[in-house]
Amino acid sequence: MLQVVKGRMLQAMHKGLSRQTHAQANVRMLPTYICSTPDGTEKGDLLVVELCQSHVRTMWVTLLGDGNQSPQVMYKIFSMPGDIMQGKGEALFDFIAQCVRQFLAGISSPQHRLPLGFVFPFSCRHTRLDKAELISWSKGFSCSDVEGKDIVQLLQSAINKQELYHVDVVALMNDTVGTMMTCSMAGKPCEVALVVGTGTNSCFMAMAQQVEMAEETSGQMCVSTEWGCFGDDGTLSDILTPYDQCVDEESSNPGEKRFEKLVSSLYLGEIVRHVLTALAAEKALFIGSNVAVLRTKGVLKIQQVLEIIDNEEGMAEARRALEALGLRPSERDCCRVQQICQAVVSRAATLCAAGLAAILSHMCQSQELKRLVVNVGVDSELYRGHTRFGEILQSVTELLAPECMATLLPSIDGTGWGAAMVTAVALRLAAQRHEVDQVLAPLRLSRADLQRVQALMRQEMELGLGWESNANASVRMLPTYVCSTPNGTERGEFLVLDLGGTNFRVLLVRMAKDGIHMASKIYVIPTTITQGTGEVLFDHIIECIMDFQLKHNLTEQVLPLGFTFSFPCQQLGLDKAVLLSWTKGFSASGCVGQDVVQLLQEAAQRKQHLGLKVVAVVNDTVGTMMSCGYDDPKCEIGLIVGTGTNACYMEEMQNVGAVEGEQGRMCINMEWGAFGDNGCLDDIFTDFDRLVDEKTINAGKQRFEKLISGMYLGEIVRHILLALVEKQLLFRGKPCPKLQIKGIFQTKFLSAIEIDGLALRQVRAILQDLELQASLEDSVLVREVCQTVSLRAAQLCAAGLAAVVEKMRENRGLAQLAVTVGVDGTLYKMHPW
Ligand code: ADP
Repeated sequence: MLQVVKGRMLQAMHKGLSRQTHAQANVRMLPTYICSTPDGTEKGDLLVVELCQSHVRTMWVTLLGDGNQSPQVMYKIFSMPGDIMQGKGEALFDFIAQCVRQFLAGISSPQHRLPLGFVFPFSCRHTRLDKAELISWSKGFSCSDVEGKDIVQLLQSAINKQELYHVDVVALMNDTVGTMMTCSMAGKPCEVALVVGTGTNSCFMAMAQQVEMAEETSGQMCVSTEWGCFGDDGTLSDILTPYDQCVDEESSNPGEKRFEKLVSSLYLGEIVRHVLTALAAEKALFIGSNVAVLRTKGVLKIQQVLEIIDNEEGMAEARRALEALGLRPSERDCCRVQQICQAVVSRAATLCAAGLAAILSHMCQSQELKRLVVNVGVDSELYRGHTRFGEILQSVTELLAPECMATLLPSIDGTGWGAAMVTAVALRLAAQRHEVDQVLAPLRLSRADLQRVQALMRQEMELGLGWESNANASVRMLPTYVCSTPNGTERGEFLVLDLGGTNFRVLLVRMAKDGIHMASKIYVIPTTITQGTGEVLFDHIIECIMDFQLKHNLTEQVLPLGFTFSFPCQQLGLDKAVLLSWTKGFSASGCVGQDVVQLLQEAAQRKQHLGLKVVAVVNDTVGTMMSCGYDDPKCEIGLIVGTGTNACYMEEMQNVGAVEGEQGRMCINMEWGAFGDNGCLDDIFTDFDRLVDEKTINAGKQRFEKLISGMYLGEIVRHILLALVEKQLLFRGKPCPKLQIKGIFQTKFLSAIEIDGLALRQVRAILQDLELQASLEDSVLVREVCQTVSLRAAQLCAAGLAAVVEKMRENRGLAQLAVTVGVDGTLYKMHPW
C-alpha cells in the first residue's frame, strides 16, 4: 500500500510541475527561485526576519566565507500581540518592520546595505526570489489586504516607513526551504527537506527545466511541494479510516489538507482520541469508566502521545494521561493505548516516508542517476526527541526507494539560520553572475559587431579579387579553374585523394546512372610526418595509394585522379597548384612554393609507381560545392567547418583579376580562414583567443579560423574555464592540473555538452574524465561557456557567409538571390546547434 501511495505522490508531483496541469494540482510544487545551496564561500552581514506562530524573530548573521564554520549570530524574539494575526495586513507588516528597527537599534550596525531574508511560512506564488504573492493564509493568520499581494513589497514599504533605507529585502522563503538550507552546511549540500510540525511540507532541489511554472531552464531550483494537500482530490480515500474522517469533519477546514491530517502533530492526538472513543463504545477499553471526556476535542496532546509511545516510561505516562482525564485505566487499557499511539505515529512516519521516497525517486530519475546520494534535512517535533519516528522514516524510505541513499539530518537552529543561508547564497550568485558576465562579455557579439565583420569580409573579398590589391588582402580569393558546377549527367570511374585535415583518405568513386558508388579507406598520417619533410609526407601518400590500389585490384588500371588538397594554393591550372602556406597543424618542409601535383609525381617516381594521372587539384570547399551541386544545381557555395574553416563560391570572371577572360564564372577559393591576419579583426579577438593563437604552430595566422573551427573551439573553452577557476567562479577555485594540458578539452565535448535536454549528467561525466569534480552549478557554467564560444563561432561564420551571398546577389543584379550552400565538416555536422 505504501508503494501505491508513493506512486500516487509521484503522479501528484508531476501534475504540479507541469504547466498544463498545474492549475488543478493538489500538490502544487511551487517554484521558490532558490537555485543553489550554500558552498561555504558565502560571506558578509545578513539580517533575517522570521514570522512565527506567535512571535517575530530577528537575527543578525555574519558569515566569514570560511565554509560557514564559525558564523556570528545574534537574535531577538518579539512576541506578537494576539489581534495582529487577524487584523489589517498593514499593521502586521508595520509591526515586523518595528521589530527590525528595534533590533538594529540594539546593534551598532553600520549603515551599508544590509540584505534581509524573510521567512514567511505560507504558500506563495514566486516569480523571483524577491517577488512572491501570498496564495492564502493558514495557521490562524487572516490579515486583510494581503492575499494576492507581493509580500516582499509589503515588507519593504513597511521597512522604508521606519526609515531603514539601507535594509534591502532580497529573499523570501517558507520554513521548509529554510530547513533545507539550515542542514546544508557541513560541506555537504542538503537537497531535500521535510517539515512535520503542526503542519507538514517538503521541498527539494529539482531540475529547473522540469519546473515548468518557472522560466528558468538550466540548473536546479528548489520546489516547495506543498504536499499537505496531497489527497484533497480523493486519491487517499482508500487509506482513510473512520477515525480520520471524524478528525477531518471536526477540523476547521474539512476535506482539505488530507495528507497533513494523517501526519502532522496537530492531528495525531485527535486520531488517537477517536480510536479510543470507538473502542470504548465497543466496551473494548475503559470498562466502568465514564468516557464522556473523550468526546472533547483536543484533550489528548501530541506531547502525551509521544511520551506514551516511549517503551520504558510509556506505560506509566499512559496511566498518568488517562487518569488526568478522569478515566480509570486497567493495566491492559494502558497497554492498548500505548499500542494505539504507536500505530498512529508509525503510520504518520510511514506515510512521510512514502512521500519522501517519491521525492527521492523523482530526483534520481530526473538527474538520470543510477544511485542518488543525498542529505535530507528534517524539522519535526515528532523526529527530534523521539527516535521511533526517525527510525521508521529512515527504514521505510530505504524500502520504498532502494535506489536512493538518504541521510536524515535534524535541523539545528530552526529556519532562521537557513534563511540567512538563502540570502547569502542569493548574494553570492548575484555577485558571481556579474563576474561571469564580465569574463564572457568580450565573447558576446552584438548585431552591429557582426555587421561590421560582414562589411570587413566584403572589403577583404574585393581586395583579394583585385589584381593589384590582392597582396594586401587577408582573404586570398584564389582562382580554382573550376568554371562550372555539375549538371548530374557526369559519369565515369575516378581515383580520389583527400588530404587536408584530420584524416587522409583514398577513394574509388564510380558515377553511374544509378547513382554514385564509393569505396574508401582512411589512412592515419602521424604528426611526425605532417610536421616532418615534404618528401616523407608525399612518399607516405604514395604508399597509401599503392596499398589502396592493391586492395581494390586497381594496379593494372590508370584511372583519372582528383586530388582534394585543402590548403591555400595558387592554382595555375586545374592540375597545377602551388602551395602558399600550410595550415591546420601541417608544416612539412620543402613544400611551400612548390606545385603539389609535381611533388606527388616525384614521390610516385621514387616509389616506382607509374600509373598516376592527376587531372584536377581541388580544395575541399570546391569538392563540397561540386558534390552538393551534383544533386542541387542551385549549389554555388561550398563551406567547410571542420578542423579548419573555409569557403568558396562562383564569382563572375570579370571580377577575377588574376585570370584573363571576362566571360562566365569561376569558383573562387576564398581561404577565409586567414581573414583578419592583417589586423582588421583585432578588436574582436579576446585574451582567450590570443592565448590560443600564441600556442599554435602558426601564431598570428588564420585568425578567423581560430575563432570558428574544430581545432580551436575546445582550446578557447579550456582557457575560459581556467580563467573562471582562477577567479574562484568554477570548481570552487580548486586548481585543475589536467585542465592545464593543451588540447585536453576537445571540441567534440562542446557538442556533447550543448545537446539540449538534461545533458548535465553527461557534462559531469566529461568533466569527471578530466578529473574535475563538478557540482551541478559548475556543469551549468561549463555549458554556458561552451554555448558562448559555439554561438560566437557560428555567428562569425554566418557574418562571412552573409558577405558572400550579398556579393553574389549584387554581381547578378538581383533583388533576391536563391542559392544553396554545400556544407561539410564534422563540427558543422555534429554540433547540435
Ligand atoms: P577535416 O576538417 O579535418 O577534414 P572533419 O570535418 O572531420 O575533418 O573535422 C574534424 C574536426 O572536427 C576535429 O578536428 C574536431 O575538432 C572536430 N570534431 C570532431 N568531432 C566533433 C564533434 N562531435 N562535434 C564537434 N566537432 C567535432
